[in-house]
Amino acid sequence: MHEYSIVEGVMDGVIPLARQNGASRVSVIRLRIGTMTDIVREALDFAWDVVCDERGPIVQGCRLEIEPVEPHFVCMACGHEYDADRLHPRCPVCGSGQTLLTKGRELEIASFDIETPETSDDES
Ligand SMILES: [Zn+2]
Repeated sequence: MHEYSIVEGVMDGVIPLARQNGASRVSVIRLRIGTMTDIVREALDFAWDVVCDERGPIVQGCRLEIEPVEPHFVCMACGHEYDADRLHPRCPVCGSGQTLLTKGRELEIASFDIETPETSDDES
């Protein structure tokens, strides 16, 4: 399932960076995910737990936080930019259906928090 490979990709990105920064553990990873992606949150949570266990103590029990990104369109006819839900992408100014989605398909690592041996207190 593709949520699994998404989580693998996130870990491949985060773990080496965390190690470089002397992390003993990654406590939370925040992802920015567009609401126009077809990611299923339940499947993502499930894959998250599986992959965190597999990758060992550095990410064991690591929390997943998601920042949703609402769809944002630009009208090709009049240039108006607007937010809209995925079922109503028509331009509210000129009514054109010629619109381009400019936000809402993101899938990126927003940030992550690490614990180091010196600062092992869990403040969260
Ligand atoms: Zn327009």
